[in-house]
Amino acid sequence: MFDGFLALAPKCGSCELDYGFADSADGPAVFIMFIVGAVVVGLALWVEFTFEPAIWLHLSMWFTLAIVLSLALARPLKGLMIALQYHHRAEEGRFDK
Ligand SMILES: [Zn+2]
Repeated sequence: MFDGFLALAPKCGSCELDYGFADSADGPAVFIMFIVGAVVVGLALWVEFTFEPAIWLHLSMWFTLAIVLSLALARPLKGLMIALQYHHRAEEGRFDK
């Protein structure tokens, strides 16, 4: 469904579904921030209290992990947002299901 890393193809490669309706906006980014933030902060606290590593090690580990996790989650979460949007027929300015 993607045409590039996050750019959407005009339509589905399997079923020709037109992706004109799809607009996940910043939906995936919010979930990525919540999930990656919780994981990274939780791990950072655990590592600090368990191993007490130097601050530069903390910085390099968590910075790298945050970026890798965010990139790894970007496509699946954007796909999920668009699938949910399609399933619930969500559109701008409509609040009925
Ligand atoms: Zn399809």
